[in-house]
Amino acid sequence: MRTAKRLGVATVAVYSDADAGAMHVAEADEAVRVGPPPVADSYLQADTIIAAAKATGAEAIHPGYGFLSENPDFVEKVETAGLVFIGPSAEAIRAMGLKDAAKALMETANVPVVPGYHGERQEPEFLKQQAEEIGYPVLIKARAGGGGKGMRKVDAADQFADALAGAQREGKASFADDRVLIEKYVTSPRHIEIQVFGDRHGDAVHLFERDCSLQRRHQKVIEEAPAPGMTDEMRTAMGDAAVKAARAIGYSGAGTVEFIVDGSDGLLPDRFWFMEMNTRLQVEHPVTEAITGLDLVELQLRVAAGEPLPFVQADLAIDGHAFEARLYAEDVPRGFLPAIGTLDHLRFSSAARNDTGVREGDEITPHYDPMIAKVIVHGRSRDEALAKMRAALADTQIAGTVTNKAFLSALCRHDGFSRGAVDTGLIERDLAQLVQEGETPVLAQAVAAIAVLGLAGDTDQDDPWSSLSGWRLWGAAQHFVKLVQGAAIFDLRVSLRNSRDFKVSSQTEAVNVSLVERAPDRMIVDGHTQPLRFAVSEVSGRVAQVTVFLNGDTFVFDVPDGVTDAGDAGSGDDVRAPMPGLVKQIRVKAGEQVTKGDALAVLEAMKMEHTLTAARDGIVAETYVADGDQVSNGDLLVSLVPEKE
Ligand code: ADP
Repeated sequence: MRTAKRLGVATVAVYSDADAGAMHVAEADEAVRVGPPPVADSYLQADTIIAAAKATGAEAIHPGYGFLSENPDFVEKVETAGLVFIGPSAEAIRAMGLKDAAKALMETANVPVVPGYHGERQEPEFLKQQAEEIGYPVLIKARAGGGGKGMRKVDAADQFADALAGAQREGKASFADDRVLIEKYVTSPRHIEIQVFGDRHGDAVHLFERDCSLQRRHQKVIEEAPAPGMTDEMRTAMGDAAVKAARAIGYSGAGTVEFIVDGSDGLLPDRFWFMEMNTRLQVEHPVTEAITGLDLVELQLRVAAGEPLPFVQADLAIDGHAFEARLYAEDVPRGFLPAIGTLDHLRFSSAARNDTGVREGDEITPHYDPMIAKVIVHGRSRDEALAKMRAALADTQIAGTVTNKAFLSALCRHDGFSRGAVDTGLIERDLAQLVQEGETPVLAQAVAAIAVLGLAGDTDQDDPWSSLSGWRLWGAAQHFVKLVQGAAIFDLRVSLRNSRDFKVSSQTEAVNVSLVERAPDRMIVDGHTQPLRFAVSEVSGRVAQVTVFLNGDTFVFDVPDGVTDAGDAGSGDDVRAPMPGLVKQIRVKAGEQVTKGDALAVLEAMKMEHTLTAARDGIVAETYVADGDQVSNGDLLVSLVPEKE
């Protein structure tokens, strides 16, 4: 929309009820509601979207990169309605839609494809024989697959039958298509893709490569361009192959040809093979924009309007190096579970381009992908760009949801990645190290405790009159604060010397904090030149979470109920649903005695099971839900009371 505005093109957004107040709605010139939150009832409703375009007098539809962007039936409907689809033709999308047909087509166009079998025959014995001829390890892929589904690596003949059955089952369940192809499994694989662009006059060029080898479960995490170790010879070979692929299907607009590369001996021009083509703009396109200085969306609009490409291959050059990191609301220690929340505090680094669809105060809902932003940096060299990424991530502050920021930062400090030694197995191999949580400094705990007690923001505390309103708090010289951080519990004692001098003690350490200046979101602490920033998140009028930003790290503390009752650590513990989900099992009954760590309830959310445990010893006071109940975020499930003395 920003590109359209710059070009003087008016925009109309479509939105579901969940997005009525979203940033993209606010930025568009006009907006039209297309339905309730579920995508099948809103963003996948082709006819409703086309009707919205007709009603507002729109001339063209940009499909973005999700939902209907690679749906050839949608393209046909758009064109039948007399509108322009900003993307390739329905035929081009169809030609690349199934992996086996796409590979066969690429073979005839002389594009190297991964050796393997992608023919019609599907008898298990025949496929097994093919696997033997290809040589183990092989990869079985559902031909209709996507998102890593229906894929099985097979290391030896005796595993083949089971793996085949598994891939077929998944293909059938996810894509209603159980047909498979068999590929040689490439060792030390790197994912290198070529950005292509075609126009409606038969011309096509490539805009160089992107390396997307940093993947987790076949999903890209950090992308970069150019690819580390890329040679002119290899780039020319890959670029030519990609342009050949695009020409073979009369491609127009932005597209990406994905190749798998055997990187075991560096990058060699006879060691890359076509995997698939994405017939749309990619999430990671800003990396290419950064190194070419082009606006790919502008090119898309121009090509869709019938203009020829404004350059030929020889006009294009690479400038410097770029990275993109995908910043998600994700709970990394809990298996990268998608998270939700209200972004109580959101600050991006000015050293990066931050492509985002949310603003401070917006909500990450459970309805859609929990991406917060794409952080994009550009430097003269790879080292310079990576240093910028580290700094940009350190400077990014998000409160109100957990994020994968620490994981991305750890990845940017990873030895192999820093050297450019990337392959698709890197993250999985070093996962333990990458998700390891550092110690939580006592200063971060202290800042959180002071913030929870409300002692940070009240700048008038020195005024004897206003301090009256806080008399209860000030009346006690000691306060106890319980903070929960994942599995860790911090029991802190805050001793008040006066209104600005505190001693905060944990079980093992203590720190003295003297406030030099204070505000609702930061405190300047004696001995620190930089203000220490924090954000307090309230749920129904109660401080539920405190996020502390310290030296580029983010520390999120949950605050259990009843925590600020000075001296009374024994108030009831409420166990609430951490996200919307289905109650699989309530494991306890009222009156039952539990010990810290005991499982209280099992919740199924976002396709995974989560066990909620007792934060301390106690007695179950009440259970509020039953097995099979659907619960919302924050719903009370079980409450605990302390054991009688
Ligand atoms: P999907 O369409 O499900 O995303 P792809 O065919 O694009 O599946 O493959 C996804 C990822 O799987 C690739 O990025 C790569 O990491 C890995 N992969 C695919 N084919 C091979 C292969 N032949 N050898 C090794 N790894 C592969």
